[in-house]
Amino acid sequence: MTATRVLVLNSGSSSVKYQLLDMRDASRLAVGLVERIGEQTSRLKHTCVTSGDTHERSGPIADHDAALKAVSEELAKDGLGLDSPELAAIGHRVVHGGMFFTEPTVIDEEVLTEIERLIPVAPLHNPANLTGIRTAMALRPDLPQVAVFDTAFHTTMPESAARYAIDTKIADRYRVRRYGFHGTSHAYVSRATAKLLGKAPEDVNVIVLHLGNGASASAVRGGVCVDTSMGLTPLEGLVMGTRSGDLDPAVIFHLQRVGGMSMDEIDTLLNKSSGLFGLCGDNDMREIRRRMDEGDEQARLAFEIYIHRLKKYIGAYYAVLGTVDAVAFTAGVGENADFVRAAAVAGLEGLGLAVDEDRNARRGDEARLISPEGARVAVAVVPTDEEMEIATQTYALVGKAA
Ligand code: AMP
Repeated sequence: MTATRVLVLNSGSSSVKYQLLDMRDASRLAVGLVERIGEQTSRLKHTCVTSGDTHERSGPIADHDAALKAVSEELAKDGLGLDSPELAAIGHRVVHGGMFFTEPTVIDEEVLTEIERLIPVAPLHNPANLTGIRTAMALRPDLPQVAVFDTAFHTTMPESAARYAIDTKIADRYRVRRYGFHGTSHAYVSRATAKLLGKAPEDVNVIVLHLGNGASASAVRGGVCVDTSMGLTPLEGLVMGTRSGDLDPAVIFHLQRVGGMSMDEIDTLLNKSSGLFGLCGDNDMREIRRRMDEGDEQARLAFEIYIHRLKKYIGAYYAVLGTVDAVAFTAGVGENADFVRAAAVAGLEGLGLAVDEDRNARRGDEARLISPEGARVAVAVVPTDEEMEIATQTYALVGKAA
């Protein structure tokens, strides 16, 4: 029997998201989530896609090991257990791969050590990703385990885009440069956009706007990323749900010297209580829309700041690319919020950008064009699928090695 299944694991500090896919036809077999690991109120939600059955379990799940064992039990109930000979590999999302990992990589001790070495630049994410990997390796030591890095797609950025204008010696010593994140999404969406246009990825220039709770933009020339809005960490760039995005670095000195805040407090402020949430107390775009409709001025201003930044990035990446074939909206906000898409391109007719009102208002799960017929630049909604991208990259690598 040929092994064609790939389990995709996205391990956070207190959660594990997973999907089991069959790469024969790129179909999803099971999806699920374990939340609040380590607490008394842990919860596992598992859906067998083929039968449509959903099971939920609540009660303490002590650690990632227990979480993965619980996932394995749920999968086994559907005849999809982790001990199945049909499982070809496990693909892990790893947030930070630095400059070292430019491609998906089969995990061995050396790879684990390098991911560990990157913890100082990804203190929240890489330790959790490593825990997930180690747990899965202990469970199936015989199986190839592949790391797919959020940063990898952006390693093609030229030095002119990747470097900050600071002392090179210091930047190199501390590995301070722009890495970019959400890379699997930008890779998937830029390719899917080319497909929607009926072209090869090499033949199109695309601006991808990944607008979720975290948000980033990228400029992709002929399938290759040439710039992206996130930097050393996912804090730089667009206004996000709770992150500030771009700001004058002197704000930090000011808050420390004049405001008496500690570095940890400023870190928390900029990452957890800024962005839309900091501006108006809500980070969900649906709620912001509802409040704007009721005439709430604070919500309106938060929205305007969000859109202003987004427009600046569209303009900047237009200039970086020179010619643009498509602007693609993706992730929770990008896929669902027609009013964000309309506002983002409003007034950009001079750049060939516009949305058709009816097309923009239409909902759906498929990639679709929302620009008017015959538009110079296509504007598209392209649902992202990071798990499918991780599974595809994992399976391609394992298939090559076999
Ligand atoms: P993500 O991080 O990609 O899961 O996106 C999550 C965000 O998408 C939420 O915080 C909401 O702001 C936004 N979102 C989800 N559904 C909608 C919707 N129907 N309309 C507007 N925004 C939405």
